[in-house]
Amino acid sequence: MTQMLRESKKQTTEDKLIHSLKSILKSYLDSSQINKIISAYEYAKLAHQGQFRKSGEAYICHPLSVAILLAEMRMDMHGIIAAILHDVVEDTLITQEELTLKFGKQVGRLVDGVTKLTKIDGRSKEETQAENVRKMFLAMAVDLRVIMVKLADRLHNMQTLEAMPRAKKWRIAKETVDIYIPIANRLNMNEMRHRLELLSFKSMYPLRFKVLKASIKKVRGNRKEIIQTIENSIKNRLKEMGLECDVKGREKNIPSIYKKMKRKKIPFSDVFDVYAFRIFTENINSCYQVLGGVHNLYTPIPGRFKDYIALVKANGYQALHTTLSGPYGVPIEIQIKTHDMHKISESGIAAHWLYKDDSRQNFQAQANEWLRELLEMQESAGNSLEFIENLKIDLFPQEIFVFTPQEGVIKLPRGATIVDFAYAIHTDIGMRCNSARIDKQLVPLQTQLENGMTVEVITASWARPSATWLNYAVTAKARTGIRHYLKHFKKREAAQLGKRLLEQSLHDLDLSFDEIPEEKIERLLLAMQIPSLETLLEDIGLGNRMPFLVAKRIKQDNFCAAIKLDDGDENTKVPLTIKGTEGMVVTLARCCHPIAGDSIVGYFNAGKGVVVHHHACRNSRDVRKKQATWLDVKWCDDVIGEFSTEIRLEVKNQRGALASIAEIISKLDSNIENMTVISQDDKVSIDSITLSVRDRVHLAEVMRELKKLSIVLKLTRIKA
Ligand code: MN
Repeated sequence: MTQMLRESKKQTTEDKLIHSLKSILKSYLDSSQINKIISAYEYAKLAHQGQFRKSGEAYICHPLSVAILLAEMRMDMHGIIAAILHDVVEDTLITQEELTLKFGKQVGRLVDGVTKLTKIDGRSKEETQAENVRKMFLAMAVDLRVIMVKLADRLHNMQTLEAMPRAKKWRIAKETVDIYIPIANRLNMNEMRHRLELLSFKSMYPLRFKVLKASIKKVRGNRKEIIQTIENSIKNRLKEMGLECDVKGREKNIPSIYKKMKRKKIPFSDVFDVYAFRIFTENINSCYQVLGGVHNLYTPIPGRFKDYIALVKANGYQALHTTLSGPYGVPIEIQIKTHDMHKISESGIAAHWLYKDDSRQNFQAQANEWLRELLEMQESAGNSLEFIENLKIDLFPQEIFVFTPQEGVIKLPRGATIVDFAYAIHTDIGMRCNSARIDKQLVPLQTQLENGMTVEVITASWARPSATWLNYAVTAKARTGIRHYLKHFKKREAAQLGKRLLEQSLHDLDLSFDEIPEEKIERLLLAMQIPSLETLLEDIGLGNRMPFLVAKRIKQDNFCAAIKLDDGDENTKVPLTIKGTEGMVVTLARCCHPIAGDSIVGYFNAGKGVVVHHHACRNSRDVRKKQATWLDVKWCDDVIGEFSTEIRLEVKNQRGALASIAEIISKLDSNIENMTVISQDDKVSIDSITLSVRDRVHLAEVMRELKKLSIVLKLTRIKA
């Protein structure tokens, strides 16, 4: 008996759904397309046969409902078919290949995208969710329809959440709040967002929902009259001005009332005491005329006017916002927009399907641009968690607007710095930025920007992105740019050093790099089985290949013969000059801390490049005996820089001893980088100090002054 009841109930729900789906489809698809959709429905129905939703309905009702939600947005045929089939691969034995065979590549790919988003398990919770979101964005970047199906799927699941156990309900609602609502927001799908917000609030806080709903109902009656009064005065004023507009009172929805109460810590009555209106106009010009009109009617509240028409929000939202002080001083919030702006702000990215005309293509292009950036970001991010961190900044943009000196407007998320600004203008500007002027004041790169600032980036030809920028760059564009640079940085530096080394070795053999015919280089590369000259130079710079061997090979022009040479007797006559600022491929040894002016030696460390040691360094002497990979190096004549070096002091253990040492060091323009106590007793303390100096002369000066102190018993430089 119950079985029969269920049967008959199932029949009616399903029939109703298919009927309403058909009638919506008829309004925008032709009959051959609708027939294809119907055959997909029959296929899915068969596949899900015997499966039921928690609510007791046949499973097929779920994909049908999802299809209806999408049909309301005028999703195209492939999207609708994918919606109907979206759970088939996940929940039945049918494979994606079968779907592709039957319904074509497009549908197969869409279903695959939606399915992938569901199949994630294992690992820590946070990481799983991060991975989930990452996959979603990748799928979305491939085809926006995937995310539309996923959002509609989520909306229907939220609508039917009642049947779920409490814990599961909470988890699904929370996930909706954390992931799906921000995505809907980012895609400017406000209707979808509001529906999801309302449903999640209702599931997560059923009691609060009930109370707020009752409170709204109670005060609604009292408000009617005053709403009518305000509406009429606005309408009359606009009529006097000869403007044709729709004026609509707007009631705040429950989740946003709750959010505002929580954020501002104010009671319900204070939130709800605001009277909100929307004014719809025909075109942009009249938006500003209306603004003038209402500002004339009631006093505007300073600082509350926002022009999102001129400064479009990142998600494409456009309108004028203002707050007025109305009759009896009640606050009136007004949004002014064209009908078109409103349509787009309700359906966002879906407007692409809803209203097919060129003016909206712009929006689609914007969304695609954003997705492309996400893809780049994903490629450069180390792992899912990092990707999510970047994404969060993008998804919850609290925007600020700053100006270029030419009055251009740049939109950035709150917390953005000069680096973000520079990259936002152009990647090349980002790469070369060095400092900036804000409202004529010189400021460093990490300065956070604020609304309305005029920023002028100062670039320098020698400036390069550094890893520390990642500490304060927040936009995806800047972070991607910096990472990209750092990744290729070492290679480039290595190739540059490699070229210098090779040039030098060639010079010793009376050859010049620039005069070697290209064809000869080509043959060399072929013989050595190296793909490009760049790779060869990199290899040399990284110490994987000996420059003098390569040079010899070039000189002999005997590329086929394997080279067997004794490295030991190699003597390069001209030493390689070291500036100390070569970057990652030249490092100064940490054992002996060589500084400018020291006599130094270098040796190749495979994969690391050249490591420079003090010639007296014990470590270097030990290795030198075994290795033949030593290189004559000398300091470049005009070294400019700061070098770290280490000194060892025996100091009388008395009050203020270290303070007087520190004072001398800083007076002489040196810096203490690190200080450790090696040993200490009642009388003497032995300390090691790492300090930065310009060169040998500077260090000598510091040491001389320190020795003058009566508390200093012994002072030596540590050379390993
Ligand atoms: Mn589903």
